[in-house]
Amino acid sequence: MSPKLYPRREDIRPEGLPHFFCPGCGCGQVLNYFLRACDELDMQPQDMTCIGGVGCAARIPIYLDTDALHGIHGRTLPWATGIKMVRPEMPVVVFAGDGDALSIGGNHFIHAARRNIDVTVIVVNNLNFAMTGGQVAPTTPLAATTMTTPYGSSEPPFDLCKMAETSGATYVSRWTTAHGMQAIRSIKTALQHTGFSVVEIISQCPTHYGRYALGTGDATKSVEWIKENSIPRARAEKMDPAEAQLGFVVGEFVNEQRPVFYGSTVYEEGDK
Ligand code: SF4
Ligand SMILES: [Mg+2]
Repeated sequence: MSPKLYPRREDIRPEGLPHFFCPGCGCGQVLNYFLRACDELDMQPQDMTCIGGVGCAARIPIYLDTDALHGIHGRTLPWATGIKMVRPEMPVVVFAGDGDALSIGGNHFIHAARRNIDVTVIVVNNLNFAMTGGQVAPTTPLAATTMTTPYGSSEPPFDLCKMAETSGATYVSRWTTAHGMQAIRSIKTALQHTGFSVVEIISQCPTHYGRYALGTGDATKSVEWIKENSIPRARAEKMDPAEAQLGFVVGEFVNEQRPVFYGSTVYEEGDK
């Protein structure tokens, strides 16, 4: 069966268009991956709540025909937690950029993972604060040039997947916009998972990260750079860890079950 070109086109709000993303931005790809995952699982965005904070990726729920919250920077997970307290059966998906998830919302991310809240978080990591003009972010690679680090960032970046794993997330994977099929497969697994599931997708920001760090505003060249610097997990495990950390290690890192927190009651897998 040939794949449908625009699965679930009816799940895009026409009044939200034209969308806000720059030409060649990876956010549109991630929106498409999510809808393809829903299509393959026969899940309806209308039966979910999708949440975005502030940032380019946080605008993805605005374009979806779903119940949505969009607003305060970094506070998506407290909202998600509140929804799960009163509607544990409701699928809740958070779309966050790297700044939203790990800088402004870093503490919420750690504690939602620790509690194993039953929420899926899709992090679009474009390696910088994109919406505000391309400033250095906690995920910006060491020595990368950004708007605020013209001589190169001197700070080591966060590894989002390692942080999710050590904080207690029960599903963790990382792909890139050069790994569409793998990203869709991981989003499907995350949507079916009971517990705190994180899918990080390294994504191109040709407008800022591309121009400042890579010297090109060409989206294709940014994706090629991401692809060239991606390292499959199996290969990374045989490498010097310091060397592997310079690239984007891709794969599935955690897939396990443990009790989920739904407020005052701790439910076991299958209780929903
Ligand atoms: S600024 Fe970057 S991340 Fe934001 S929409 Fe434009 S290309 Fe995408
Ligand atoms: Mg960002």
